[in-house]
Amino acid sequence: MQKQPLQWTVIRLINWTTEYLEERGFENARLEAERLLAHTLRKKRIDLYLLFDRPLTPSELSTYKSCLKRRLSFEPIQYILQQTEFFSLPLYVDNNVLIPRPETEVLVQLVIDHIDAHYRRADTVNILDIGTGSGNIAIALARNVVKTRLTAVDVSDEALRVAMKNAETNGVAEQIEFSRWDVFQQPPSVFLHAFDIVVSNPPYLSKAEYDSGCRDIHAEPVTALIAAKEGLQFYERFSNIAYDLLREEGCLFLELDENRATQSLKLFDQKKWNISEIENDLAGKARVLKLCTKRG
Ligand code: GLN
Repeated sequence: MQKQPLQWTVIRLINWTTEYLEERGFENARLEAERLLAHTLRKKRIDLYLLFDRPLTPSELSTYKSCLKRRLSFEPIQYILQQTEFFSLPLYVDNNVLIPRPETEVLVQLVIDHIDAHYRRADTVNILDIGTGSGNIAIALARNVVKTRLTAVDVSDEALRVAMKNAETNGVAEQIEFSRWDVFQQPPSVFLHAFDIVVSNPPYLSKAEYDSGCRDIHAEPVTALIAAKEGLQFYERFSNIAYDLLREEGCLFLELDENRATQSLKLFDQKKWNISEIENDLAGKARVLKLCTKRG
């Protein structure tokens, strides 16, 4: 009797890929194998458990192989799946935008807490998000602040397209106005003294940190990660312009690098700013700079 050729079933493929990824040093190998396969089969990961013995068709197998190849060359899984989650919201991502990080959720939560403490529910809070990328911060704020009018800017048209698509799928397109602005150019006049809150997660890695960073980040847009002046370029720029973007009483929230928190803070003229605080992320690392205006 002729031997049957080996059939690639769901479970066989999961087990084989898990071992293959593990041998190459990938963490969460089984989870990644399951996510890539679920994506290929257009199923939820949990549903794979009901399909363990299902063989893959040749075309499914070839799609799966090409996904796996991309992962083996260290492309982040979020780009392969074209999705990620931020503040429990589903977001589309591709290599035009930085993949939102969990640390940035701390920045969003601080802004929400600040609004809850300082504004009445009937107030409309005007917020500017600089360097919106996938739109993660603006969208999370639009979804979680009762009344808000958001402006989200980015230097990249491609990023703005991704952000708009995400605003649409998360049902907040009406609340957010997207526009292209390079923060190193003059602010549009309508931005002057227009905002209660300015928020940003700017690029803050030095070139050397980027070069020595893990391989996954090298697939991300370099302009979203590296900043000149040893990572401080954007903080210096914000120290010059943020005050003029804020209303009489307003606050600036910036994500920052844990090793440069005090250096970043020092760039801001303490005579102009009333409250200045550095907040930690959940890993206990300095992550957010909060500055509020002192006027009058
Ligand atoms: N925290 C990010 C990283 O280390 C950097 C994000 C940023 O530059 N804003 O990859």
